[in-house]
Amino acid sequence: MIDFYPSYFEKFKCIADKCPDSCCKGWDVVVDDKSAEIYRSIGGFGEKITASMTIDNDGDCVFVNKNGRCPFWGKNGLCEIYIKLGEKYLCKTCRQFPRLEQQYDRFTEHLLSFACPEAARLMLDSENAYDNFVCASDSELIEKSSNFIRLLLIARSTTVSFLKDKKLDFFDRLKLCLGYNKAVQAFIDKETDAVEFKPESVLISPSERHSCNAVFRLHRELEIMSEEWKTVLEKAEKTDFANPSPILSDMLERLGLYYIYRYYLTSLDSRNVLITIKRLVCACIVLSRALNVWEKSPAELFCLYSKEVEHSYENSEAMELEFLTSPDFSADTLVECLDTQFGQKSSYK
Ligand code: SF4
Repeated sequence: MIDFYPSYFEKFKCIADKCPDSCCKGWDVVVDDKSAEIYRSIGGFGEKITASMTIDNDGDCVFVNKNGRCPFWGKNGLCEIYIKLGEKYLCKTCRQFPRLEQQYDRFTEHLLSFACPEAARLMLDSENAYDNFVCASDSELIEKSSNFIRLLLIARSTTVSFLKDKKLDFFDRLKLCLGYNKAVQAFIDKETDAVEFKPESVLISPSERHSCNAVFRLHRELEIMSEEWKTVLEKAEKTDFANPSPILSDMLERLGLYYIYRYYLTSLDSRNVLITIKRLVCACIVLSRALNVWEKSPAELFCLYSKEVEHSYENSEAMELEFLTSPDFSADTLVECLDTQFGQKSSYK
């Protein structure tokens, strides 16, 4: 088993009381069986912890939220369990967050989550963070893998190269990702004998045009957890379309790489590569406009989006259903949305 880490991974350190948000806010902390057993056995402060645990509707053991906060999140922003018992007594969720681990057949990829503002800041600041990840040129690993994962690894590398092609405007890069993955999907679905993709097919302005109303409508219909997000979303929808500046393009590219490395290989199970690209396109459309009305740091906005949309199981399910069934979210329609939003001549040569 080979482990891959992005360059920012080792730099992460929880900033605790300096955190502008907190992973203890708004979420139920799921307590793993081993930690629950330890809390029940230690007496003293362990009894207070045990009294704060309950079983939720999904059958998970969780800490009972108090006013939307973990009961052990102190007013000083510090964790009472950490202070009284030490780090090794934190449950697995708290010990690991925001670290993510994705295990595949022959390798494991490690990432951080955008749902932590400090991790989001590090990720938005890091260039070429995934250059050492498994890619199509890792011939040994690719050759030893099954045919399907080999196809996905090659397609993922190609998608990454489209996303990082700085010769193009960022939204042209997204159009290439959509068009290319539509071709990959047709091959997976056995509609074609090879991945057949011509970049011109998405970069020439389409005859049909679509507004991004459906993208915002979908986000409005998701479960919204905070007033802050509701307000930002409403304001963002009313802002003018604008071309992403080079700085915004870099941020969106880094978000895009995170989405690709986090989700692309989930198509091993779903056999659908387009879902990841559609999630990314929707995130970029909403975030690029939300930044126009956002007054805090970009990392905090990307974090808020991650908590509200990406990390909610129900919201992710609702989005996937829409992506699979609604013509508003076909690859072609999304290409047309990007063209409308940034309606300008393609810079593709
Ligand atoms: S969200 Fe991140 S920085 Fe903030 S308390 Fe949690 S782990 Fe620490």
